[in-house]
Amino acid sequence: MKFQQVHIGKITLGEGQPVIVQSMTNTNTADVEATVAQCKRMIAAGAEMVRITVPSMKEVESLRQIKEQLRAEGIETPLIADVHFNPKVAEAAAAIVEKVRVNPGNYVDKRNFKTLDLSEEEYQASLDAMEAKAKPLFETCKAHGTALRIGINHGSLADRIVSRYGNTPHAMAMSAIEWLDICEKNDFRNMVFSMKASNVNTMMAATLDLHKMLSERDTLYPIHLGVTEAGNGLEGRVKSAAGIGALLKMGIGNTIRVSLTEKPENETPFAHKLIEAIGRIKEDDYTIEKQTLVYSSDEKDPDLWIAAAAAISGYLNYHQKIADILLKNPNFSTEENTNLADTILQACRLKMSKTEFISCPSCGRTQYDIESVLAQVKERFAHYPGLKLAVMGCIVNGPGEMADADYGIVGATNGLAAVYKGKERVSEIIPIAEALEQLEKLVYSRKI
Ligand code: SF4
Repeated sequence: MKFQQVHIGKITLGEGQPVIVQSMTNTNTADVEATVAQCKRMIAAGAEMVRITVPSMKEVESLRQIKEQLRAEGIETPLIADVHFNPKVAEAAAAIVEKVRVNPGNYVDKRNFKTLDLSEEEYQASLDAMEAKAKPLFETCKAHGTALRIGINHGSLADRIVSRYGNTPHAMAMSAIEWLDICEKNDFRNMVFSMKASNVNTMMAATLDLHKMLSERDTLYPIHLGVTEAGNGLEGRVKSAAGIGALLKMGIGNTIRVSLTEKPENETPFAHKLIEAIGRIKEDDYTIEKQTLVYSSDEKDPDLWIAAAAAISGYLNYHQKIADILLKNPNFSTEENTNLADTILQACRLKMSKTEFISCPSCGRTQYDIESVLAQVKERFAHYPGLKLAVMGCIVNGPGEMADADYGIVGATNGLAAVYKGKERVSEIIPIAEALEQLEKLVYSRKI
């Protein structure tokens, strides 16, 4: 087996290298001063790589200035440009920063949620078109030593892929493999893959499927782990730990991002705790009795406790079915341990005891105060077990990325929002208070 090492500035990802923690800014990238200040806070909080959204050519120039200002202050942390939709932006960014993230679902292909009936020739023609668009990016990356992340999101798979493989974890893995074929054909190998979904089980299944296919091809590329739209607070941390932590425990994952709908500086401390917690889990600490996982610990640090309990649950749930979780830790009250167990069961979709909230971490595209809107949605709709509600930052990516949510509020321009039923917009662009009212009517009138 060959282990591909990937170089991102001063960082090397791959076999024998440490797991690297990264995070993403949520300032407007065009606001260079605010973004530089946020990068510095994130790096101080433990971010070893920082990702910045680059929606258009205008932000490419901002990206250059952000990098120059950080380097002028002696900060060498690698920067990653997050690019959707525009190959020219990706090429320009690749000449500036150490890594570019592209999403095969929208680099050339599109997702219109339509079933395509493509012949073999038509399918191959669309792969050829993708390769033609990607070639200049590979050349720029080679010339500048820039790495790529081929970042697959469950919510933005191309129609072509979904029509052939279904809306499945395997479709996510195949989307990555198609890009891998194109990259290797063009002798480009400085790349990382990610399989993200808001559903922990989907993210894990897609990553394991990709890992298996890479193993069968005899070259393991580094893998970036993350549960996207995980939300905030305990739920966000538990979903991330259940998915990322379980895979880390299996020895899979070279860089991680814990996505939270909170300020980005909150993400990295928990991500570091998660890596630490995996190393501390002892086999003697857990048993499975009649499909109930019993996990005991005297861990005093709340984040280490949350991370370890969620990670071991996600790990064991994959290996042998569990139906319930009993957590025992004398440093936390029975109520706290029970609430954590219920939150883990929900994150693993084993027992839905409360509303499932799906919310993006926000980024430079975010169009409203997402933390405040999420707080209002959580307060109003806390007690609907089985209901999945999304709160997404932008209308460009939000509706696709909210994946399997029943309803959602999506940020539009100037602090306004739109209400969605599944992938369908069902309101005008309206003030937040009105959007909440409309959402309430939809939830009350739904068929159960
Ligand atoms: S959905 Fe959220 S994280 Fe994704 S691009 Fe829009 S604002 Fe950014």
